[in-house]
Amino acid sequence: MAALYSGISADMVKMPAIRTDDHRLHLQDGVYITENDVAEAGKAIGALRAGYLTLMREAGLWIEDVPISFMSGASGLYVDAMKAQRIGMVSPGSTRIIQFGNTSLAMAKELTTGKVSLDDMRAFAHQLRAKHCMFATSEDFKNLYSIELSLWTYGMPMSAYNDMLDIYSMPHLPAEPVKAEVERRVNRDIPDLGEKGMSVLRDPGMVLTAELEGCIECQKCVKECPEKALRIEGGEPPRAIIRSDLCMGTACKRCELVCPKHVISLKALR
Ligand code: SF4
Ligand code: SF4
Repeated sequence: MAALYSGISADMVKMPAIRTDDHRLHLQDGVYITENDVAEAGKAIGALRAGYLTLMREAGLWIEDVPISFMSGASGLYVDAMKAQRIGMVSPGSTRIIQFGNTSLAMAKELTTGKVSLDDMRAFAHQLRAKHCMFATSEDFKNLYSIELSLWTYGMPMSAYNDMLDIYSMPHLPAEPVKAEVERRVNRDIPDLGEKGMSVLRDPGMVLTAELEGCIECQKCVKECPEKALRIEGGEPPRAIIRSDLCMGTACKRCELVCPKHVISLKALR
């Protein structure tokens, strides 16, 4: 985020092009950003802007009506809020940006220490669901996200962005965001767990298995698996054992493709 902000401010990044000899933005320690990275980051930032603009439209509001933005999760802790606002991730109308950090953990803490009750949280979740806005079916989101894609991946100028907003009968975005005050409510991810801290238990997921009639236990599938999700257990017949939390499923299928006996099939796993 910060690199993109600096590149745009220095006129070295004109989305999605990087105006250096090798089309890369070089940071310290040999780290660099490519034009592909800019386009990919732009798709995410564009989705966020299309998201908050859609929500404003749903609520009958626009930029100037929403003076406070809240940032949570990683962006509510690590991201520089002002830079995020300059590149469009936070509403340009926000005069106050509150960074919360890990809100799920904060809520879990309030629940376990009895500051809020589960019933209160359920009632709140019910209210949220009642006003849920489905981006997947929202015409406004579709229109706004297409403009964002044109901006970030095809280099459409910001003036054309506003022309497109005219077409969709939406007000323009300001050329510059208002000056915002940033309030950081957390300094660290996990502020008060005590000396011992916390260890994260990986979700072991489910184990899928299938008998492999005709398997010669050559282990080619095991070696081919990029996620180390698969093992072959010897027997009559041998058996494939796959960890579902690691396996990429039909997006991968390398084990199926490499098997010389064509005996392994993701579909047959139970
Ligand atoms: S589908 Fe891919 S990730 Fe899953 S077990 Fe097969 S090779 Fe491994
Ligand atoms: S590649 Fe096929 S034959 Fe070889 S161990 Fe895996 S399932 Fe068995």
